[in-house]
Amino acid sequence: MHSDPTHFQHTQVANLKPLLQRQQAAFAVAPNPDWATRKGWLKSLDKMLDRHADAFVEAIAADFGHRAHQETRLAELMTVRSAITHALKHTKGWMRGQRTKTSLTFWPGKTRMVVQPKGVAGIVSPWNYPLQLALVPAIAALSAGNRIMLKPSELTPRFSQALQSAISETFDEDLFTVVTGEVELATAFTALPFDHLFFTGSTAVGRQGGVAAAKNLVPVTLELGGKSPAIIDGSANLQMAMERIAYGKLLNAGQTCVAPDYLIMPQAMIVDAIAHLKTTAQTYFPALDNNDDLTSIVSDRHFERLQKLVADARSHGATVHRSQPENGDHDFDALANQRRMPLTILTDVTDEMDVMQEEIFGPLLPIVARETLEDALAYVRDGERPLALYWFGDDADKREQVLTQSISGSAAINDTTLQVAQDDIPFGGIGASGMGAYHGRAGFDTFSHQKGVFIQGKISAAKLLMPPYTKRSNWMISFLNRWV
Ligand code: NAD
Repeated sequence: MHSDPTHFQHTQVANLKPLLQRQQAAFAVAPNPDWATRKGWLKSLDKMLDRHADAFVEAIAADFGHRAHQETRLAELMTVRSAITHALKHTKGWMRGQRTKTSLTFWPGKTRMVVQPKGVAGIVSPWNYPLQLALVPAIAALSAGNRIMLKPSELTPRFSQALQSAISETFDEDLFTVVTGEVELATAFTALPFDHLFFTGSTAVGRQGGVAAAKNLVPVTLELGGKSPAIIDGSANLQMAMERIAYGKLLNAGQTCVAPDYLIMPQAMIVDAIAHLKTTAQTYFPALDNNDDLTSIVSDRHFERLQKLVADARSHGATVHRSQPENGDHDFDALANQRRMPLTILTDVTDEMDVMQEEIFGPLLPIVARETLEDALAYVRDGERPLALYWFGDDADKREQVLTQSISGSAAINDTTLQVAQDDIPFGGIGASGMGAYHGRAGFDTFSHQKGVFIQGKISAAKLLMPPYTKRSNWMISFLNRWV
């Protein structure tokens, strides 16, 4: 059973700095853990996951009000396990660094790269996938040989407590520790002089974290949010596209950073698109009331925020289409107690509506009408650079046009969200959706310092270039200028 979060002892702000200092002292004693050590850490994490998986699933469900267990096992546990397996397979090779060449000018000197852990990494994680977004960065940090202080979200207190005790029974405190607290602790945490700060959360709070880190010149990775569009081309199989979009939108009740935020398509396709979306949503969730497959909105504040987005859009002229209209079977007041919502499609939307201004993070799906790909791309370009961009269609030229003419953190073609599940491509944002990346090799590189080293030979022609400068030096310098 998960424990009662009201009796949870948070970390004292005053204890943060001493904790960091202990980790830094331990790192100074062993600054380059070998592969066997790192492998041991990753395997310990894997075993910890086996021991605590059920407790994590239950704690997250309780924190959300309800989270479908399958969603936690699929989108969190499986992702973390896959990241561990991938790191176990590749870290040894990544630790060797890339081979380097040395320009003939500097022979017989040589160059090489020394790949080092940065030191102590601070990781801040959000509530929406609390396990995955805490542990996948942690796996990258451990495989790169770092020590970790991790601060999970205060919105998932049962899970945070479960994670804290699971990590403390698995790792020494000076290697990997979880600290918990409210905003005051979070603010103090991001102000610590870490060797790297890895923050996942909203753009607004990430900006504050980035400013705090900049004061100490701490390198940062910011994994943020924003409005990720899905563009539907006339060449798309509309039914298939809407089925996949509905899945990406309704997974975790839309509380997914890379969920398709809104759709762009030609006006003539909208009526059919709505019909397919409704049918799909009804197939996935025939009933909303007490349906264990349907995840709840995490808090009353977020539930009210979503209701207000719909009300605001309606008051500015939007048309609202719900997958399950309100009737005897779907009493929306009862659903409010469970914080469950139907898929809510919005048409006739305009930019002045709040729903088109802020990240939705829930099961609302506005549709913007644009007739050409150029107009759709221009619409996206007018907003902030998104975390993800999706395109549905069958026309290869247009697909390449989308991929090369739009800038987003990541992209998927003919599906949504699955780019995040790939261990062999980087995942990260750009501009307002973040900076830096992780997953697989990109994560290892994020938490490593790649030190370029030049090793001089016993004999070196450089001596011939040293002062006093003579005619011969001038000749050699002009020869070298032509040579390089
Ligand atoms: P949030 O920004 O409110 O909180 C994220 C973390 O920051 C939490 O641990 C919180 O305690 C901490 N925090 C709060 N105030 C802080 C402060 N003043 N200084 C430093 N840290 C502070 O985000 P959230 O509501 O937990 O998560 C939802 C957001 O995260 C969405 O915008 C979503 O798109 C984004 N997100 C991004 C990714 C990604 O990989 N890019 C993944 C998941 C979620």
